[in-house]
Amino acid sequence: MTNHLFALVRESLPADSAKTFIETPDGRTYSYADLLARSGAYAAALQELGVRPGDRVAAQVEKSPEVVFLYLGAVRAGAVFLPLNTAYTAAEIGYFLRDAEPAVFVCDTGRRDALADVAARAGVAHMLTLDGAGQGSAAEAADRADPNAFADVVRVADDLAAILYTSGTTGRSKGAMLSHENLASNARTLREFWRFTSDDVLIHALPVFHTHGLFVATNTVLVSGGTMLFLPRLDPKLILRLMPRATSMMGVPTFYTRLLKEPGLDREATGHMRLFVSGSAPLLAETHREWQARTGHAILERYGMTETNMSTSNPYEGARVAGTVGLPLPGVRIRVVDPETGKVLPADTVGMIEVKGPNVFQGYWRMPEKTAAEFRADGFFITGDLGKIDADGYVHIVGRGKDLIITGGFNVYPKEVETEIDAMPGVVESAVIGLNHPDFGEGVTAVVVASENAPDEAAILAHLEGRLAKFKCPKRVLFADELPRNTMGKVQKNLLREAHAGLYG
Ligand code: ATP
Ligand code: MG
Repeated sequence: MTNHLFALVRESLPADSAKTFIETPDGRTYSYADLLARSGAYAAALQELGVRPGDRVAAQVEKSPEVVFLYLGAVRAGAVFLPLNTAYTAAEIGYFLRDAEPAVFVCDTGRRDALADVAARAGVAHMLTLDGAGQGSAAEAADRADPNAFADVVRVADDLAAILYTSGTTGRSKGAMLSHENLASNARTLREFWRFTSDDVLIHALPVFHTHGLFVATNTVLVSGGTMLFLPRLDPKLILRLMPRATSMMGVPTFYTRLLKEPGLDREATGHMRLFVSGSAPLLAETHREWQARTGHAILERYGMTETNMSTSNPYEGARVAGTVGLPLPGVRIRVVDPETGKVLPADTVGMIEVKGPNVFQGYWRMPEKTAAEFRADGFFITGDLGKIDADGYVHIVGRGKDLIITGGFNVYPKEVETEIDAMPGVVESAVIGLNHPDFGEGVTAVVVASENAPDEAAILAHLEGRLAKFKCPKRVLFADELPRNTMGKVQKNLLREAHAGLYG
């Protein structure tokens, strides 16, 4: 009997344990031997604090290698790691702590005083600190602990390894319960599918409180024996400087649009790289094409959720089709159904995307009704995303079910309208939303971010006329300096809907 997830890490260790696992921009390196020692020290420290298998260990901390060791220490101690977005306020943290009831809460050193009260009121027994430099009482507890006196706690495939809260793009974040096998299976699959080996050096500039940075990026490298260059945040100039030493990068679409603004981005600068992956939000087909023209690399777009880890990916070899999220990953089943009846729809027909496989979570933490409502009787998870599968098997996401606009009884998929508007010269990007309308139920409304020489409302409406059926055309076009985005680069359409709620009276 072993610790299911950490056993995979152990069996995947590189031949030379002195090999670098993480390197930081200030030149600090942490080897695989350090990873074993340091995660063991955190595991021992947690046990000494009384953490028992199944207990939650929550952390709201700045990104540093120590966070990765804390995560793995929690897993090795049999606990459930619960990372929290660094942007959450004290009131929000209070909600998550009351909801998750962690045994230990690790917070940023600078926020200890601000959070002590909410932690105490949530009944948290132990509050520790860790700052962006990896210092604090949590690190000190690990320094004092004896990792040799510690043995990995036995955990089986279905035991929980983490609770990860969703991004809160559509409403209050939900805690997705992820098992050891959910994480292990996805790490193994992505390693094979994206050809990760111990020769890989990944540029890691994502936050580590979200599935993308913590599981997709970190776990995949971890089970490949490769190296991560760990950046505290997106820094396009630094990324360009690191590329000659790196082989791969994973980012949200904003990474790619920001890097495209760097004059130094060209074939030579990216010559050493073998793979660019994008996900967490839709990558504009335009960005895909521009990136290919500038660098010669086709960005590999994939699709996943906090609840499902990764579900689809464009192929490593074979066509990476812009505007699609590729094929179901090995072992993962995807279908598109009629949202009302659950009937499977034919190819190229838009409906609800559903997923089943070893990647799919165990349910929402303490939300049995919501969990029951989001699963079909045959075990498929209802993602809430609308899309279609084309004749070649590629999955296309057209948007979230919650963003679907119903106007005068007709369905309008915002992406179709956005694609037409975005193609106009002078338009940077757009978001199409439905707003309450006295005659139509919802009125199609476009919010446009324009550059110089931008078309005005009348020009945009004239452009759409003839290209789109009349019911799809916006009733109004509004302009904004930028679209509201959350920390994962996702457009927050609910904020736009709130801001313009009264537009049609
Ligand atoms: P919440 O569920 O709290 O509203 P969220 O859905 O944004 O927030 P995440 O789990 O971080 O939280 O994001 C998953 C969602 O991100 C997917 O359901 C999908 O809508 C979107 N997404 C992820 N990858 C892609 C992609 N490549 N293209 C389009 N959308 C994507
Ligand atoms: Mg979601």
